[in-house]
Amino acid sequence: MTTLEQDRAAQTLEAAFEFSEFRPLQKEAVQGALAGRDVLVVMPTGAGKSLCFQLPALLAPGLTLVVSPLIALMRDQVDALNRRSVFEQAGCASLSSLQEASEQRAVMDKLRAGRLKLLYVAPERFRSPSFLEALRRANVSRFVVDEAHCISEWGHDFRPDYLSLKGIVESLGRPPITAVTATATVRVQSSIVDNLGMDDPLRLVGGFNRPNLYWSVVRVKGDNERLEKLAKALPKLAQGGGSGLIYVPTRKMCDEVAEVADDALRTIGRKAGVYHAGLDPEMRTRMQRDWLSGERQVLVATNAFGMGIDKADVRFVIHCGYPDSLESYYQEAGRAGRDGSKSRCVVLTCFTDRRTREWFLDNDVLTVADVQAGHRRLVGVRTPGSDLVTIARSAWTAAHENSDLKARRVMGELEKAGLVERLNETPDEIVLRLVQPKFSSVLFGRIAQDLNAQRRERLRRLDEMTAYTKTYDCRRRTVLEYFGDHEEPAGMGFCCDNCDRPAGENGQRPTARPDLSRIPMPHSIDGGDIHSVLEGLDALRPSVGKAKLNALLRGASSKDVERYAHEHHPLYGALSRGSRDQVNTFLDALVAQGLLHQAGEDDYFVCTITQAGREAWQGRLELNMALPGARRKPERSAFNGKAARDSDGAGDEEDEALFERLRSWRRLEASAQSVPPYCVFGDKTLREIARNSPQSESDLREINGVGDAKMEKYGAGVLSVVRGHGAE
Ligand SMILES: [Zn+2]
Repeated sequence: MTTLEQDRAAQTLEAAFEFSEFRPLQKEAVQGALAGRDVLVVMPTGAGKSLCFQLPALLAPGLTLVVSPLIALMRDQVDALNRRSVFEQAGCASLSSLQEASEQRAVMDKLRAGRLKLLYVAPERFRSPSFLEALRRANVSRFVVDEAHCISEWGHDFRPDYLSLKGIVESLGRPPITAVTATATVRVQSSIVDNLGMDDPLRLVGGFNRPNLYWSVVRVKGDNERLEKLAKALPKLAQGGGSGLIYVPTRKMCDEVAEVADDALRTIGRKAGVYHAGLDPEMRTRMQRDWLSGERQVLVATNAFGMGIDKADVRFVIHCGYPDSLESYYQEAGRAGRDGSKSRCVVLTCFTDRRTREWFLDNDVLTVADVQAGHRRLVGVRTPGSDLVTIARSAWTAAHENSDLKARRVMGELEKAGLVERLNETPDEIVLRLVQPKFSSVLFGRIAQDLNAQRRERLRRLDEMTAYTKTYDCRRRTVLEYFGDHEEPAGMGFCCDNCDRPAGENGQRPTARPDLSRIPMPHSIDGGDIHSVLEGLDALRPSVGKAKLNALLRGASSKDVERYAHEHHPLYGALSRGSRDQVNTFLDALVAQGLLHQAGEDDYFVCTITQAGREAWQGRLELNMALPGARRKPERSAFNGKAARDSDGAGDEEDEALFERLRSWRRLEASAQSVPPYCVFGDKTLREIARNSPQSESDLREINGVGDAKMEKYGAGVLSVVRGHGAE
């Protein structure tokens, strides 16, 4: 930005938003936009991301077009903007099917007359040829996609409508794009960039760190212990003042927990409320009101509660069980501490929680039969003699177990498969064209594949959530890395239970992630064997408990496992040189790494492979582990005596820390390019880099696995990690 531009931006900030200073990343976003770049902004709600496109809209020539799926909120947003004279004078409007025809016409007239700076529309608006024509003449200088995660099939709120946006931007002469969202994991960010065809966008991800929140996980043996712990902790927490939220996964559990919470709170003269979709609306409203007013200090709720709720003084959010993804968890737990005062986010978890989630997932899964039935329904109600279908929204939702989400997903699949084309949509009805009245077997296969991919992704998200509850790493950092937020959270003194664990031997917190290379294992096993063990587990039917699995892996001659010997099952004797304890330690490590799921704490609960475990043996996910057999002796190094340090323990630890950093860097690099981490560098190469700590390009070239192509692509990145590490 030139000085002149900077001055203008600062003036506009003051005049239009009444702020004297930019909040973090806003300035960069404005600069990027004024320089004509594509910009991706990922910031949580309340961090000020709208300003990132509203301010440049005022400064740039031409029209800034904002696409948003939130029709109901669009007009409110625009009304709020128009209350500020700067926006009102510039010309600011929205167009949606909720408006009267006369109002829509008035907006179109302004658009044609070039009297608009900022126009908000829903994506279905682009189905109108006259609107598109008006846009082409209107000099669109920036195309903004709000709630951009909706374009990602990996997001939780995929809208097939959004997939057409790329083509529309192109048809408008490809103005620069700004994509904004409050919620996008690293994977979703990549798919936003791909699906919109963004060109080397300026990526601004930040604001996810909430320094006043403390993150912790408490493991309990079962539901009884969970309730006991809760009853004991609640009065203490409540006496700290403010209010609290307790999230539970099911309605039944909601009632149960509410009763216990209420009893516990009454001992100190306070009350708890309950909120779930099974209560009648009046009761729900009353509970919400009581909680907001402080009449009831704690509210026990399912995830039906919380949208649009903004209570400043929530001092704790406790999850009994956990949500379906770390993203949902962050959103729910993030309702704590909005006022900036210290607050707690606690997960109270036991072994049944994962099963509960899997059950939800299985019940909620969309099948090809659902899609086919939806198609058949549309064929049945089409207008005779034409390919047009008009269907009442209520009827369409009712046909899908009254689930709006399911109804929308079925329509999405039909549209993605090219079976139907939505023409118009109002709050009451959907008008569409039946492109194909036949549901062919080819389509059947294609849709099945698509639905499978979605299921895999949902399992993966669940794995990430489960891993959060099991990690030994800093939980705050785990959350931030999940969103790709690079803010360094250390040094706040108020972080998480893992950071607060007492220091162990040699002053190290026992928080390092479980590293199989430090586990005594039979030397006949190496990294490759882990793959075959995981593959064998995947094929093992029925699943068995840990004790039996242990015997099976050791190739015990007990009756119990004889059958596997006869079948030459690949698992039989796979770890035959390990002792019972060693194999148990190995299995525990697989569980800790999130590759294996054990349904319970005791040895007879069955072990099943997780989605991550499956992807690991299929080679789609790199294993973050190396076993002693696979770990090579430190090689003599050409550079400055670093190898000598390997002989003492301190050097080892330092290498380990650098290795971890390199791995974090690799993870981000890999996500940014949507490739598996090993495509960036293998573990072996990273270890060698960590050991030798190369300081220059020529040092780095000496490392095995660093060729010209890799050097060009990643050299600078690796060196900056190594130098940054050395500088501390
Ligand atoms: Zn921490």
